[in-house]
This record gives sequence, structure tokens and C-alpha cells, in this order.
Amino acid sequence: MALNSYEEIVTNFVSPTLVLAGPGAGKTYLLADRVKRLLYNGTDKGVITVLTFGKDANQHMINELIKPSGFNIPFAKLPHISTMHSLGFEILCEKPRDVNLLKTNLRVQENENVKRLMYRDASLILDYTEDDSKEALKCKQYGDCKENPEERKCQICEQYWKIMSKCNYVDFDDLILFACRILEKNPTILKKYQFQAKHLLVDEYQDINTVQFRLIELLSRESRNGLFVVGDDAQSIYGFRGGNPKFILRFKEDFPGSETPPLPYSRRCHDKIMQDAIKVLKKYYTDWTGEQELKYKVPSGEEPQIWKLLSDKAEAKVVAVIARQFVQEKKSILILVPKKEFFPLITQELSRRGIVYSCPISFLPERVKIAKLFVDWVTNSSNTFRTRLVIEELINKGIAHIPGAKKDKRTTPETIKNRIIEETEIAKLWESVNKKNDLFLVIKNLKDPNKTLIKIRDELLNLSDLFINFKKEKCGEFIKQLAVVSSALLNNICFLLQYFQ
Ligand SMILES: [Zn+2]
Repeated sequence: MALNSYEEIVTNFVSPTLVLAGPGAGKTYLLADRVKRLLYNGTDKGVITVLTFGKDANQHMINELIKPSGFNIPFAKLPHISTMHSLGFEILCEKPRDVNLLKTNLRVQENENVKRLMYRDASLILDYTEDDSKEALKCKQYGDCKENPEERKCQICEQYWKIMSKCNYVDFDDLILFACRILEKNPTILKKYQFQAKHLLVDEYQDINTVQFRLIELLSRESRNGLFVVGDDAQSIYGFRGGNPKFILRFKEDFPGSETPPLPYSRRCHDKIMQDAIKVLKKYYTDWTGEQELKYKVPSGEEPQIWKLLSDKAEAKVVAVIARQFVQEKKSILILVPKKEFFPLITQELSRRGIVYSCPISFLPERVKIAKLFVDWVTNSSNTFRTRLVIEELINKGIAHIPGAKKDKRTTPETIKNRIIEETEIAKLWESVNKKNDLFLVIKNLKDPNKTLIKIRDELLNLSDLFINFKKEKCGEFIKQLAVVSSALLNNICFLLQYFQ
């Protein structure tokens, strides 16, 4: 039975449903409406789970449900609405020991630099290469990781997990993976979450990866007809972390008997924009689930304009000129750039014309970022991951005296090999780190450190001593040393340190 109208879609409770909804089709509204109808039909809120893709989307969904001008549902009556990751964390906390973690002080590691470095350490411990560690990282991001691995990359994944569990940390990729493992091993826990997800609603289905699919499949296994997902394969933007529109394209195979109706509205963009967007999609995305006969809920507007410009600088100028015109017309403007390298040029041109803007990217210059890293470290030197990041900077800046570690003309295959040997020594320090011994403590108590480790240890001790004096006497030695280890300018560092006094 094909679902023909909005009404039929939102009240389809007899088969799994994937709603194909383009940009601005009203996905959040549809999901919220579905929740409202379930509640009004007498469905207990305890058997409804809504999965959103991020904190903002989560809040947006809750607002839509509780606001008086919206669905006006009392907060106390709301069902379980959470992001995929927070649900993963909740499940993980049911039995963390199954994956070598402890419930007390279990934390999520969110820093991408730490993650990359830990994968490299894991790889070096096993005598594999940095490139192998990149493969392992991808394996986890894509959610393809195997248990008891023979494959090199997954051996690294396991080693990485060992390091993380020593510090009682888990990262976003592992949250979902571990949640699945716990559900698969513990039928009672699985039953509990399946019961809560008799009606499972999932937003942004185009962005799920293999392991997120595994979680959705597990949760909905006993009540497939309650599965209701929305997505748009043309809007899949998380390819870099394994999100894959293939799960939309194969929904009917994964969930036999399902319905996949379109939600053919455009509530955000007018016809001219959508028509051009469709042209681009047809040209570059040949697997697209297809063009829909859209019903527009917004009045028609101007044709999109395309400018061909010769340089990034010329482009920045044109963008700023157009922006100024719209600002004068009291319109709000969104500027999208393909890479963050474009920000300085555009913001410069905007400032030059006195246009006020907000930009989510931190503009700290690289050296100041490094100085900040050291300041963060001295204020909490028992944080093992910070210690590890700081050590890496001491190596990169040439302060650990590893020849060729500074990326300059002296880098040769010989010096790279040497650096790897030294880095491997450092990676092996993880063997001594545990929940009681942080990395700095391990380094301080090393029995027979090599030359590099002595240098690193002394530099760390020096910095932390200078910082104590800095707090006591406000003397300049700490600031000077910070300038040495980060190559940042003294006045930048003084600026930075205002926040720590
Ligand atoms: Zn793996």
C-alpha cells in the first residue's frame, strides 16, 4: 500500500517507514507530529524513543514538541528523545565492565588531535606504521570494526581501546560500537531498550554509518512496524566519518515490507533555488532516489546567481559587497565556504566594510593555540591526554632534540626513521599508565629514561615549576619559556594568560 498523503505517512503504524524528505521539507515537524499522534492515541511515552543526530537537533525537536504555538506537549509527558551518542552512553553505562570501563568517572574523549595521536601510538606499540593507524581510525569512524581481529587495522583499534580504557575514556565512535556489543551479549538489557523503542523514530537517516545501523536494527528487531525514519540521501554530509546514504538506498531490503514515501514539500527554499539545486544533484549524484514533484510553501523568488571569479581575493570582495547590500536591506546572510582557509580573506573584507559578522571557527593563530595547550596542561598536568599532546609539541618544536623532528630541510628518511624509534619509545609508556598513574607521573618516575625522555621530562618539570612561581610571584620566566616551547609572541602569551590569573 503506497502512502499518498501526509496524513497517511504520519499515521502509518503497520510497516517500517522511511520518509524521503528534501531540505526544508519539515522533517522535524513530521517527527514531532508523529510523537504527538502516538501520545494522543494512548501510546505510553515509555515505549517511544526519538533519535536525533546532534545536540542542536535534539533541542530543536524538544522545543517543537513543548512550545505552546507548536504541539504544546507538557515536558513531563515527553518520550525518550536523545542523540544517538547519548543513547549509546546510556547503554554503555548499563555494563561498562563488559568493555573494560568503569562507570565512575567514565568520560567521553572529544578531541580529534588526541584521537589521531592515540591511534598512532597504538600502531607504533604494535610495530605498525602511521599510515596503518589512519586505516584503523577510518575503520572505527565507518563503524566497520571487527572483534578478535586478524586484520592489522583492527588490531590497532583494539590497542587503541586498551589505551583509552586505561584512562576510563571512550570516544564517540566507540560509544555506539560498545553499546551494540553490550546489547548483543546481554539479552535482558537488549529487551529493556527494545521495549523503550517499540516506536523508534530516527532523524537524518542519510548520515548513519554501519555501526549506527546495527544499533537501529537491534533496537527495532522486535517491533519493526514501529520503525519510522526520515532522511534525504541527497543531503548526506557525514561521508568523512562514515555516514553513508546507502542505508537509505537499501532500506527496503533491510526492512522488508517497508514503505518509503516522499514528503514532497519545500518550506524553506523557493522554487528557483530548488530547481537549480536539482540540476546540480542530477549531474553529480547519479544514485539519487529521485526528483519529487515539490509543493512550495514559500513564495517564489529570484534566480540564484553564479559568479565566475579569478581569485579567492576577488571572490571575498564580491561576497563582502553583496553582504553589505543585504545588510543595508536589513536581511540576514549566511556565507558558506568550502574550507576554513577561506575565512581570513572573507572576514577581512567584511571588516573592511564595517560589516558585523559572527564566525564559529576559532581564529587563534597556530602558535597561540600551542601556547594555550601548554597553559591548559600546566593547570592540570595529571590529565594524561594533555600530557601526551604537549610531549608531541615538544617534539614538533625541536625542543626534545630529536634530529629532523622539526619539519624543515634537515628531514631525511634517516631522521624520519629515528623519529619513529623515539616516538615508539614514548608510545610504549602507555604500558605503565593506569587509572592511578597518569602519564606525567610515569615520566617523572622513569627508572632508566633515554636521552629524549630525559629532555622531555626536564622540560615538563621546568614548565610546571615555573608556573607555580608565576602564580606566586608573577615573574616572567614562565611566560618566556612558554614563548620558547610554542614560538608564540610574548604579547600574545600575556594576552592569553590574562584568563588564567
Ligand atoms: Zn577496526
